[in-house]
Amino acid sequence: RIFHLRIAPLNSSSQGGAVVLLRDVTERRNMEQMRSEFVANVSHELRTPLTSIRGFVETLLESGTDDPEMTRHFLGIIATETRRLSKLVEELLDLSKIEERRVVHRWQRVEIPALVDRVLAVCGSHAEEKQINIKANFPSRLPPLFGDPDMLAQVLINLLDNAIKYTPPGGSVTVSASVENDEIRLDVADTGVGIPAESLPRIFERFYRVEKARSRELGGIGLGLAIVKHIIKGHGGRVDVKSTVGKGTVFSIFLPMDNPTVENNARS
Ligand code: ADP
Repeated sequence: RIFHLRIAPLNSSSQGGAVVLLRDVTERRNMEQMRSEFVANVSHELRTPLTSIRGFVETLLESGTDDPEMTRHFLGIIATETRRLSKLVEELLDLSKIEERRVVHRWQRVEIPALVDRVLAVCGSHAEEKQINIKANFPSRLPPLFGDPDMLAQVLINLLDNAIKYTPPGGSVTVSASVENDEIRLDVADTGVGIPAESLPRIFERFYRVEKARSRELGGIGLGLAIVKHIIKGHGGRVDVKSTVGKGTVFSIFLPMDNPTVENNARS
């Protein structure tokens, strides 16, 4: 822990005594350090695509566009990097809105099968392209969730997107739901590359990626799980992860089954 030490003279004392004041500034230091790490990370993430875009635009300007194949290749890279920048800015804005709780939650009952159908409509084609089989596994009677349907869809999209991204072609991804001790449990399990044990505690940090190069190649920025964590926290739930390298990963979300405040809001 870090303490600020201040020695203040005691004027009222004829003996000329003094008091020693100790203030615990650990929290503030940690916040400052996190903020400066965040700024450094954002700057790096902005600079990398910008350097690449600038390089290819300058090359095209200097060498001309006579070679259509090379021009197309360069324009393709510029388009990919531009998309990456847009994604980064969008995810940063999403995260800051969620962190500052500026997002107006539309609390309502959310039926899980309908939510999963909606999410599969977004992620399904990506899975098909990679020949990844997506299975959904629900009990016949499942209570609804309470929460913001768009936010909960975002959580599942981020988890499924990762599961598909980090699973080699031919693998499978399973979404399942169950009721456990007054909680609704949602699992997203994959047969992918897995996450090393030493990385597990860090994957929910902003910008943390197990293998930066591989994640970047796959379009990853490192904000997806930070967004998941904040949304689930905002819904009074928690996220757990279990993984075996080379075998696969299971992300589990636990949400309260009955949330009276949420229910009141949903009714109002
Ligand atoms: P990214 O945009 O890089 O995917 P995330 O915040 O979504 O960022 O995930 C952080 C890191 O956790 C990823 O870079 C990846 O290394 C790891 N990860 C997340 N989900 C999985 C998964 N299903 N299988 C293997 N690794 C994963």
